[in-house]
Parts: sequence; structure tokens; C-alpha cells
Amino acid sequence: MTSIVVIEDEPDIRNLLALYIEKEGWRVHSYGDGESGLEAIRALQPDFVVLDIGLPGDLDGLDVCRQLRVTSDVPVLFLTARDDEVDRILGLELGADDYVTKPFSAREIVARIKAVLRRGAAQTATTKTLRHFQFGSISIDLDRREVNSDGETISLATQELTLLESLLENQGIVLSRDQILNAAWGQDWVGDPRTVDVHIRQLRKKLGSDLPLVTVRGFGYRLG
Ligand code: CA
Repeated sequence: MTSIVVIEDEPDIRNLLALYIEKEGWRVHSYGDGESGLEAIRALQPDFVVLDIGLPGDLDGLDVCRQLRVTSDVPVLFLTARDDEVDRILGLELGADDYVTKPFSAREIVARIKAVLRRGAAQTATTKTLRHFQFGSISIDLDRREVNSDGETISLATQELTLLESLLENQGIVLSRDQILNAAWGQDWVGDPRTVDVHIRQLRKKLGSDLPLVTVRGFGYRLG
């Protein structure tokens, strides 16, 4: 059974998260401070950690993550209360898988946990999936993370390539902006689904009309 550790000192938030996590059929273990949370993670080896940054006691969330990373690469979702905390997360390169800024909805947290777990499962899956694509003059090799047009390398930003990857993996299926954002995890996205439009525009500009990228008005995008 998927087990999730929540470390959050505000009881209301902690209980709400626990409620939503349990509703997904996952097991939840909640802690109110860094020391007991870290100890629990070491003992329980959970599948996922939701970690508040501002915690009472000697260890804040960043300390917990830093100590955790010595021995574990469990996915971590940070809960932050302020923008400067976000800067600290990004600056420290702690290997956090994502963060959300308060106030947030428990539903959003669950969606993000799901996306990270799904990504982890996809990475460990042994089934070989198609990783090379050709559209007219455009050739895309996801394993090498290379995109060429008539043999010339096209340089894509990480987010653009990740977005392209999620569209390719769902060829022929219309994806909403939220689905694309969820699939294209790990970018410096802070919550505006319109971010997708910006990256789509860049993709179109760089790859041209050979890429069969269709806008489905009012919903999202489809490739092929
Ligand atoms: Ca707190």
C-alpha cells in the first residue's frame, strides 16, 4: 500500500491532508515537527513525503529534506507559506519534486502526489515505449533529448521538451492545460495553466507546421 508521511505543524492543515490522502486509499502518517517526522521517514520508508517548511523545533522542512537526501530519494512536496521560502528551496537544490504555496487545496496536493507517483512508476516500468518520432522534416528522439529539423538541431528549453514529451506520449488524445501541466512535472511552474499556451507557442515557432499540434478551443491541445 502506498504510504505517505505528512510533516506539518498546523493541525487543521495536517488533518485535512490526512483526510484527503486516506480517501485515495493511501496510508498516511502525520507529524507536527521535523525531528519526529524525519525519524518516521527513516523507519517507515514511505513512498512520498509532504513537508512543511516552517516547523517548530530544531529542524525546519529544509533541514529535514537535507538530512533525508543523504540516504533517500523519496519524492518530496514542500508546503511553503512565503515566496522567500520558494527562493530558498530552489536555491538549495534539495531535490524537492515540487512545492505548493499556501493557501492551497487538499485536492491539489493529492493531484500532485498522484502525478509524481505516476511519473515514478513510468520510469521504473520495464515495458519499452516508442521514444523516437518523425513528423515531416522534424525528428524527435526523446531518449537522447534531441530534436532535429532536416538534420539540424533545434534547441528546446527543458519545459518545451517536457511538454512535447507529454503530448507525444498521449498522441491523438486531447489534453487539457491542467493535464499537460501535471504530466510535464518538475518545471518552475507556480500555478497558471496559461503557462502551457506560452510554451506551445514556442514549440510551434521552433518546430513549424510539420508538427501536427492542434488547438482544441476552450480545452487544450492534441498532437496528431
Ligand atoms: Ca508551519
